[in-house]
Amino acid sequence: MEVCYQLPVLPLDRPVPQHVLSRRGAISFSSSSALFGCPNPRQLSQRRGAISYDSSDQTALYIRMLANSEIEVSVSARNVRRLLSFQRYLRSSRFFRGITVPNSSNILDDDYNGQAKCMLEKVGNWNFDIFLFDRLTNGNSLVSLTFHLFNLHGLIEHFQLDTMKLRRFLVMVQEDYHSQNPYHNAVHAADVTQAMHCYLKEPKLSKSLTPWDVLLSLIAAATHDLDHPGVNQPFLIKTNHYLATLYKNTSVLENHHWRSAVGLLRESGLFAHMSLENRQLMESQIGDLILATDISQQNEYLSMFRSHLDRGDLCLENPNHRHFILQMALKCADICNPCRTWELSKQWSEKVTEEFFHQGDIEKKYHLGVSPLCDRQTETIANIQIGFMTYLVEPLFGEWARFSNTRLSQTMLGHLGLNKASWKGMQREQTGSGDDVDPAFEEMDSDILPQEPRLS
Ligand SMILES: [Zn+2]
Repeated sequence: MEVCYQLPVLPLDRPVPQHVLSRRGAISFSSSSALFGCPNPRQLSQRRGAISYDSSDQTALYIRMLANSEIEVSVSARNVRRLLSFQRYLRSSRFFRGITVPNSSNILDDDYNGQAKCMLEKVGNWNFDIFLFDRLTNGNSLVSLTFHLFNLHGLIEHFQLDTMKLRRFLVMVQEDYHSQNPYHNAVHAADVTQAMHCYLKEPKLSKSLTPWDVLLSLIAAATHDLDHPGVNQPFLIKTNHYLATLYKNTSVLENHHWRSAVGLLRESGLFAHMSLENRQLMESQIGDLILATDISQQNEYLSMFRSHLDRGDLCLENPNHRHFILQMALKCADICNPCRTWELSKQWSEKVTEEFFHQGDIEKKYHLGVSPLCDRQTETIANIQIGFMTYLVEPLFGEWARFSNTRLSQTMLGHLGLNKASWKGMQREQTGSGDDVDPAFEEMDSDILPQEPRLS
């Protein structure tokens, strides 16, 4: 069912009024292109629960779909039709005509479903191909994979979760990722969740983690980039975006991902049977995990991790220490692309670069000054990847291997080395030298560093 509210237009350069925020705990925008007045109507209003902007009549609609809500339509059917995306229009039109549409995952034939199920049996393998899994599930990789992991870890039973509510929550999460983003979309979230599962299975962690720890880790992994606009924090700051104002230019995106996740948790009622105290604790701990993925804070986390390892004082019986390790694990899961096999890693590298360059194109068009790593005229994938691996990935995974010196850690470091060598080979072919590290990485500080959205 669709519930439509008509809201006043929200200027993009002003903070969002509190009464608007309170509708869902967070405001979201439907796509980076919609942010910049992209005229393509199909790219407007695509997302569930999105604030949508129609440049022609400056009308914004807040649209929610709740399966069990009463219908309230406060805008005319004609207006709705004009503002809805093609897909959403089809869905609402079918609904009003009383036609029920099978869940998209049911559209798949048995053969595809069978192959997806087969893949899930090996969900703990480091060479799990999330791109293939996404195709086999018809674009539902995040829902299918996370639901399966909840089952596998016994969370549904342990926390007495309503499976309908769980599925609905996961569908909402998946839909709130922007499928138009080349990189920061639901497939990245599914990939990070799969990696997190691999880390949770590591002996040191698995023997000390509680069901609560596992629950929070999987939710945080699945939601850690929720409603990502496909541009980074410096971009939001220099364009006076309301999110930058709202979060005072600090971990702007991570705060937004977290608050968006909290909004969906509350809306789904998934944990409504828990005490208020536990729900509040859950929301705050999920926040700690998601905020740790801000790559501009990496040095702080890494030096704390290194100090613990040097002193040998990590005690996983201590809930605070376990929580810290889960933060490090989520950080690893978030930037583990270079530690995957070359076939998978290369695809991620191409996607993240495409997103960087898309931002650079917008910055050029609007004379905003092109951000580091975002200029397609001067940057190459190889340069970006070599810098990323040298300054961010290698130090993090080196420490992780000290903490958990297992076959998985050695496999990840092995891929990292091979992948870096491959990019260096390409760099040599392109420039005649193989030792160039992108200057943007050499000037590492929190202003210059590519923010989490760029590389996570
Ligand atoms: Zn991420």
